[in-house]
Amino acid sequence: MKECFKCEETKSLSEFYKHKQMSDGYLNKCKECAKLDSKNNEKNTSKSELSYDKTEIGVTRVIYKTQIFNSKKRNHEKPEYTKKELSDWLYKNGFKELYDIWKNNSYDKKLKPSCDRQNDFKKYSLDNIKLTTWDNNKKNQITDIYMGRSTSGQMCKKLLQFDSNKNLIAEYVSFSSARRAMRYTMEYSIRSGKKDRNGFYWMYK
Ligand SMILES: [Zn+2]
Repeated sequence: MKECFKCEETKSLSEFYKHKQMSDGYLNKCKECAKLDSKNNEKNTSKSELSYDKTEIGVTRVIYKTQIFNSKKRNHEKPEYTKKELSDWLYKNGFKELYDIWKNNSYDKKLKPSCDRQNDFKKYSLDNIKLTTWDNNKKNQITDIYMGRSTSGQMCKKLLQFDSNKNLIAEYVSFSSARRAMRYTMEYSIRSGKKDRNGFYWMYK
């Protein structure tokens, strides 16, 4: 039997975790108390991390980290500014206003301040970034794909149009130019390889 120093209950040794460094070979708090402690610790850590990510400094930190990550992912040079320089730039360019809107809207993901490049082909520099919201950033990425740029910054392939007998009838410079010409999206047709609503087949060159 052993007394737990936390709940002060006397329990059998099987109710205590083994621990080599303790003189009797068992922890001084019972299993129940040990579990409770570790649970509370987890809760406290995730709680404080979460709230930090929602602070102004937390958001700017994540923006910087994301840019470093994106640069690596796309094999571009790292941002040519420091975290501090980015932060100064953000505040000069309306970050606080965007942040307040986000906060006042219960931290709606769509409104979260975000900072992206103006030109994806160029590296992150103070004259090639723009402040926006998470939702706009996503929309821009989608526009880029339609405009013939992939997220990796490469130009998209040409799109070929075939008639219902699979004869090639047209070649478009990009998905977006085909979509503009046809006035509808053939995205599903490209992906599935099936005829579109007008009986055309589509395939990237
Ligand atoms: Zn206990």
